[in-house]
Amino acid sequence: MLERGQVLIAGMVDTHIHAPQYSYAGTATDRPLIEWLNEVTFPAERRFEDLQHARQVYSAVVDRTLRGGTTCAMYFATLHVPASKLLANIALERGQRAFVGKVCMDRMTPAGLAESTEDALAGTEHFIRYVRGLHSDLIHPVITPRFIPSCTPALLTGLGRLAREYQCHVQSHISESPDELALVARLHPGEGTDAEIFDRHALLTDRAVFAHGVHLSDTDCTLLAARGSSLSHCPHSNFTFAGGTLRTARVVRSGVAVGLGSDVAGGCSACLFDAQRYAVVADKVLQQQQRPAGSEASKGASMDWRHALHLATQGGAAALGLEHRIGTIEAGKAFDAVLLDAAGGGIDLFPEDSTLALLEKLCNLGTEHNVAAVWIQGRRVHSRDPQRPPTAPIPLTHLSAVNVDPAPPASKDGNSSVSSSTHGGSAVKGAGNDVGGNDVGEPGAGDSRAAVRTGPMPKMSALVDQVVPGLGSRSGTQVGPSAC
Ligand SMILES: [Zn+2]
Repeated sequence: MLERGQVLIAGMVDTHIHAPQYSYAGTATDRPLIEWLNEVTFPAERRFEDLQHARQVYSAVVDRTLRGGTTCAMYFATLHVPASKLLANIALERGQRAFVGKVCMDRMTPAGLAESTEDALAGTEHFIRYVRGLHSDLIHPVITPRFIPSCTPALLTGLGRLAREYQCHVQSHISESPDELALVARLHPGEGTDAEIFDRHALLTDRAVFAHGVHLSDTDCTLLAARGSSLSHCPHSNFTFAGGTLRTARVVRSGVAVGLGSDVAGGCSACLFDAQRYAVVADKVLQQQQRPAGSEASKGASMDWRHALHLATQGGAAALGLEHRIGTIEAGKAFDAVLLDAAGGGIDLFPEDSTLALLEKLCNLGTEHNVAAVWIQGRRVHSRDPQRPPTAPIPLTHLSAVNVDPAPPASKDGNSSVSSSTHGGSAVKGAGNDVGGNDVGEPGAGDSRAAVRTGPMPKMSALVDQVVPGLGSRSGTQVGPSAC
């Protein structure tokens, strides 16, 4: 039985996080990107040839993200194959849904962190086979060119071949910062933008997720949309390194699926509540820069907490191509869910607080201390209450619904204006009292699995199609947090 102050939401999806960088998250935030890479990141990543160090950091980051309600994460590891395999193993042990990539980099590599083109390709193929050999529904290998400056054309071509041969996900950084753009222009004169270079090497696929994209052109966005590639919005690290803010509305309008990324350690926090709040602030800053205060244009709505929650759940699921599997709590999907509890600290409730206000408070004020429990594929993988065993079911006896309509930010001018609305009264009932199976059961099923039924809530696809025709089918369905 959910108690007053508790809300059950779909599990959150971190579409861009560097697991090895977790050891120094929260430090070195005063450096430009290339300097940060050379003087902080590469020395830290070099240490992952030591498996004992890797186990310590990777265990910590998986545990931390689970405590924060991240049920699915797309991880960069390092170029070390043994440590990358260890990260996959740890995620599997902990029960986290994880996409893991052995990083590839065969040029401009610092001493002690270099690999040949041949080693990068052989290591990637070995890693793919290893992860596939785990035969887990949760853990997936990812082709991971670090970013274009780190990869020769031969390596990019080889990785594109592997992506096609193994039908793997791809992850990298794209059009992130002015210094990165300048470096690519120097290394690839006349070869176009990051998006065009990735495309030339068959890496712009419908399983690819690219981080940042702050400096993508309209043509780049159109190209990403045509290829079905997605974007990870990393608002905190964009403030730190990117020299700009992602124009989320423009990207969504172009037809690109957008998820949210913590980008640890470019972003300080591994908790996606923080990323959601940064995304809202980033959008407001963008709007204020582009629309003078007091003007008619300034009265348009900008991204709010509902859109940010959408990015962290359904948006991430769609970015990974998993919108049919995760991102909402509904029949037929895996039960990846997070029980939020205002009683965890930092939030005061008052009698007049509605369920929607409760959820808004949790999104705007919540921390990992408000995450009471986490389930992935129906298995409880985290519990704030030590008295409750990790696999104990949560009784779902009666849930009233708050249906948040998180139409993605979009405006006619392609900037940051958004439209949103909130619907109430849609029925979501739990029949049965045991969430022990892998998936959410069918309505009315009398078995021991939870039967969470979505009522006549509008599909996100329909809502998005009102904004961008044809986009809805790519953007998944509605966020359906339930509370009592
Ligand atoms: Zn990154």
